[in-house]
Amino acid sequence: MSTVRVRFAPSPTGPLHIGGLRTALFNYLFAKKHGGTFVLRIEDTDQTRFVNGAEEYIKEALQWCNIPYDEGPDKNEKFGPYRQSERKAMYKDYADTLIEKGMAYYAFDTPESLNELRAACEAEKKTFIYNWENREQLNNSLSLSNEEVLSKIEAGDKYVVRFKTPTNESLEMHDEIRGKVVIDTNLLDDKVLFKSDGMPTYHLANVVDDHLMEISHVIRGEEWLPSLALHNLLYRAFGWDAPKFAHLSLILKPVGKGKLSKRDGDKMGFPVFPLEWKDPKSGDLSSGYREEGFYPETVVNFLALLGWNDSSDQEIYTTEELIKVFSLEGVNKSGAKFDPEKNKWFQQQYLQQRDIELLTTEFSQLLDEKGIKTSLPVSTIVESLKERAVFVEDLWELGKFFFEAPTEYDAKASKKAWKEGTAKLMTELISVVSAIDNFDAENVTSTIKSWITSKEIGFGKVMMPLRLSLVGSLMGPDVYEIASLLGKEETISRIQKAIEEL
Ligand code: GLU
Repeated sequence: MSTVRVRFAPSPTGPLHIGGLRTALFNYLFAKKHGGTFVLRIEDTDQTRFVNGAEEYIKEALQWCNIPYDEGPDKNEKFGPYRQSERKAMYKDYADTLIEKGMAYYAFDTPESLNELRAACEAEKKTFIYNWENREQLNNSLSLSNEEVLSKIEAGDKYVVRFKTPTNESLEMHDEIRGKVVIDTNLLDDKVLFKSDGMPTYHLANVVDDHLMEISHVIRGEEWLPSLALHNLLYRAFGWDAPKFAHLSLILKPVGKGKLSKRDGDKMGFPVFPLEWKDPKSGDLSSGYREEGFYPETVVNFLALLGWNDSSDQEIYTTEELIKVFSLEGVNKSGAKFDPEKNKWFQQQYLQQRDIELLTTEFSQLLDEKGIKTSLPVSTIVESLKERAVFVEDLWELGKFFFEAPTEYDAKASKKAWKEGTAKLMTELISVVSAIDNFDAENVTSTIKSWITSKEIGFGKVMMPLRLSLVGSLMGPDVYEIASLLGKEETISRIQKAIEEL
């Protein structure tokens, strides 16, 4: 049996950013590649940052992208619960264990006293760090006697538990993507593990849970690389084997410097979230890939290629294919530029290769939403339009004339197509069209074409005004095909109307 167990551990502090979704995807692909287990764990220990609806959003986004988790909240809870707030009771024992081992300590410093220390350092252009240099002079169980500590705790004084970072050590670690990482432990601060509100911090809860949930590989964003040393030291302090670590490089802005942030999307005009999100407090709406008309397959595909490749030229991958070829060796060390235009290209590819029946169903749904009832052959229309479409919505923009006769005519097109004599020609065309019995595209084409030839006039003289009459502009697929799809009656009525109005 495979021992690969990975987890996606988001904090429910808002909508899932596209970078977070990529982390989930890479974890999922890695798990499935190795026949392993993909766990969803909700890291909600920071109550001050908790946002209503965020957990549901995360689950819905994973579901939409077809990235199912094997274990998680409300699912196969053998290592559960999977919400850290529901695991609250067990973390304190782990903090206590470290205190007993002398690897952590109680710290009674008030936020005010720490702020004063910070301000004093800033005045000297230094940064205050709670660490080996000053810990013995601060208000904690390293500087106080046992009695003092006990009486403070009994008196109900607020305290946190801090990690006693080992000194003078050059800590050598390994990252599956970056290779060797070395950190001088003297540069680390004594991080808080357990807070005065009775909740563990991210660091303690994350390490304890990864251990208890038997996580084999921690695959997460680069922003957690600075925590790698502390996490390794915590595993060692507990006497546990550490999982393997892989830190994914950032997704970068399409232009300019730095990471693609949650705010960039609305600024730059493309979504940075998989699904639309309405902020429960401000009511602000952020756009999502789903609502913009992207297929989930598209999103999975472009995310997979953001910072990963299998060194082939292939660009279109199904999730199944990705599972086969994915490896951490293929993940890039450097950041990947987000490319909204390329994302559209992917969407176009997926729409072009969409099964025509499925595409027709999607387009029919859109017609329903618009209140359009039609007896026209929708799948033939879809077939004739899809080449120029990126989104299902484009099919409507490209082909709405099929379902609604033009109510106005494009001015430039009219000037170009409707000349003196056109009305007379179009009246003649009506009789030609009336005489066609079999109105399939081939027959319509040959009949009208031979009539034009017999009149010894240029094709454009008829085809352009005909198109203008049927479409309202000079756009659209083959004009004879349009006429055939609209049917004889509708074609005649539209030509008639154009003659009257132009
Ligand atoms: N809760 C952390 C986050 O929101 C998880 C980091 C990790 O995967 O260790 O990103």
